[in-house]
Amino acid sequence: MSIFSKIVKGEVPAHKIVEDKFFYAFLDINPVAKGHVLVVPKKEVDYIFDMDDKLLADMFVFAKKVAKAMKKVITCKKIALSVIGLEVPHAHIHLIPINDEGDLDFKAPRKPFTTQELESIAAAIADNY
Ligand code: AMP
Repeated sequence: MSIFSKIVKGEVPAHKIVEDKFFYAFLDINPVAKGHVLVVPKKEVDYIFDMDDKLLADMFVFAKKVAKAMKKVITCKKIALSVIGLEVPHAHIHLIPINDEGDLDFKAPRKPFTTQELESIAAAIADNY
């Protein structure tokens, strides 16, 4: 079972934002930027483009709603969307607040936030969902 499936099941802690029957959104533990969110399908599939067509389309609509909530809370120009998937073999969309294309640098040192900071960011996004 992937680490993300364990988060979905509540077996591993995460800063949850929102979930529905098919998807789960939570904060990335090593954020590229403040408010870096991951959206995952509850059904474990490694490669995003192996997902069922309808589930993939619905995941983007779910991510859109999360991104709208993020934009209300985080001061930024836009919410960017990336898919990488080289580290965790469970399909996921990265939603990242950006002001500049350089803000999407996954190789740059990640931004440290305290547990309390992550908790309050997650709660603020959830409240605006
Ligand atoms: P990638 O698979 O390359 O798209 O990267 C996986 C992302 O998942 C990275 O940005 C990690 O920081 C993030 N990540 C890994 N484990 C956890 C976890 N337990 N909770 C939250 N985010 C995680």
